[in-house]
Amino acid sequence: MSLCCFGGVLSARRRASSRRRSTFLSLSCSSVVLDMQTFEMRNAKFGLLNRCIYGDDEDHFDPNGYGDEHIIPIFLGQKGYIKNASCHKCERETSGVESYCAKEIFGELRAHHKIKGRKRSARKRCPHTSFPMKLTLCGKQSVHKVEAKYHPSLLVLPSFPWPGIMLNKEPNATWNDGRIHCWQFGPARRLVGEYLAEMQASEWEVSKTTKIFPFVRLIAKIGHAFAIATCGYGSFQPMLPPLILGKSDAPNAAYLVGGELEAPPPSEREHELGIIKVDNSDLLVAYVRLFANIGTPAYYAVVGRDLRSQRRPE
Ligand SMILES: [Zn+2]
Repeated sequence: MSLCCFGGVLSARRRASSRRRSTFLSLSCSSVVLDMQTFEMRNAKFGLLNRCIYGDDEDHFDPNGYGDEHIIPIFLGQKGYIKNASCHKCERETSGVESYCAKEIFGELRAHHKIKGRKRSARKRCPHTSFPMKLTLCGKQSVHKVEAKYHPSLLVLPSFPWPGIMLNKEPNATWNDGRIHCWQFGPARRLVGEYLAEMQASEWEVSKTTKIFPFVRLIAKIGHAFAIATCGYGSFQPMLPPLILGKSDAPNAAYLVGGELEAPPPSEREHELGIIKVDNSDLLVAYVRLFANIGTPAYYAVVGRDLRSQRRPE
């Protein structure tokens, strides 16, 4: 399978009949338990940068001051951030990517597990609490907005091979291999059955589409911010900002972002972040794994060339 970066989408669909009860069981991932454990950097605050982490030219100078930059977005339940680290122009750009991911990729998971977002209204309730489900009523299919508590929801994520630069390949927008990983979570079978009975529906179907490029930009953003928070501003020559800001003229998503094709076993932690140093190379790579506790894929974002090794005395 080849995964295309621009316009690339992953789709998954689940359907079942209310009469064939075993179908639903076979689709449920009963082994998936979302235990929302805290990550040790959950509320960590890093330095006061007073500059934009996405660039140092005048485009990123902001006379009105800089916004705090969250490392793992707040819509994923984390609060760790770098103080005063994004100009408002970049903030607008990255918030568009985050909005898509918050709603379209992780919206159902967030609703089921009550992960709240940044907005005031979201403190009281999750912003998206009902989702589309196709029902067959009297032989005809129609789409209904269904409350999360009755909705068999999906999470669909890609996995990739290593970033091209780690394999000495040329810059490239597409991965030469990839996998689709899908989780179903949501209500007990009894609740879905009750809803179908109330609606007098004979079949249900849910589907999920994940656009790859915004997701890859999110991974790149998390990796870049994490590397600056832990290694320090100026400790590496950054490579990811054009990709994060969607400015790459020559798309290089597969060159800088990839991971392991096989998802590692579920971890005890909710989210995992790390810094990888590549042997015999000055590349600095961020390890990003969101919802590691359900066995999601691990991603590598090549944040840049490590400048610290050059400063090391002989
Ligand atoms: Zn900026």
